[in-house]
Amino acid sequence: MLIDWFWSSLVLSIFVLWLVWHWTQQRLHHQMATLTAARERLLKPRTPADCPACRQERATSVERPPTRVPVTPWRARKSQRGAPKRIATQGFACPNRTCAYYRITDAHIHALVGDGAHGQRERIQTLRCQACGTTFSTRRDTPLYRLKTTSQRVAEVLTALALGSRSQPPCGCLGIDTPPSLPG
Ligand SMILES: [Zn+2]
Repeated sequence: MLIDWFWSSLVLSIFVLWLVWHWTQQRLHHQMATLTAARERLLKPRTPADCPACRQERATSVERPPTRVPVTPWRARKSQRGAPKRIATQGFACPNRTCAYYRITDAHIHALVGDGAHGQRERIQTLRCQACGTTFSTRRDTPLYRLKTTSQRVAEVLTALALGSRSQPPCGCLGIDTPPSLPG
């Protein structure tokens, strides 16, 4: 009789303990889910990579490559007469969005030719698209575009910075007589 009572109490205790543990786990899980949902609601995407909608849109656009109508190489369309091309145009492309040769950098296909030069301090090559007539600088879409400082000067400063000139300013190579005062 006493043994039966003991086993019954033990089983009942284990069952009650399991119930309490299970209830605690359920409640903990619910609290974590609520906290996660609240945190997700508070965060605002700062980049397209943070936004699920933007990621989905990007993935869809990657799957579908932009369809581009193949263009006839300009040399096949133009007359074979005339002076040969002297300015290298490989790597440059027509910036006119409505042009058939827009963003085509292959010199065997696009219609670019040299169109003189401009610039007061140094010679900057100008290119012209023969298909649409657009002219543009070879510095377009580069950090040097519309910069008054000469490219040689920019190269000197970048070299000095790369060499780590904080302790000894390279006044000689930059053509500066007085060392500039450096902030502490
Ligand atoms: Zn063009």
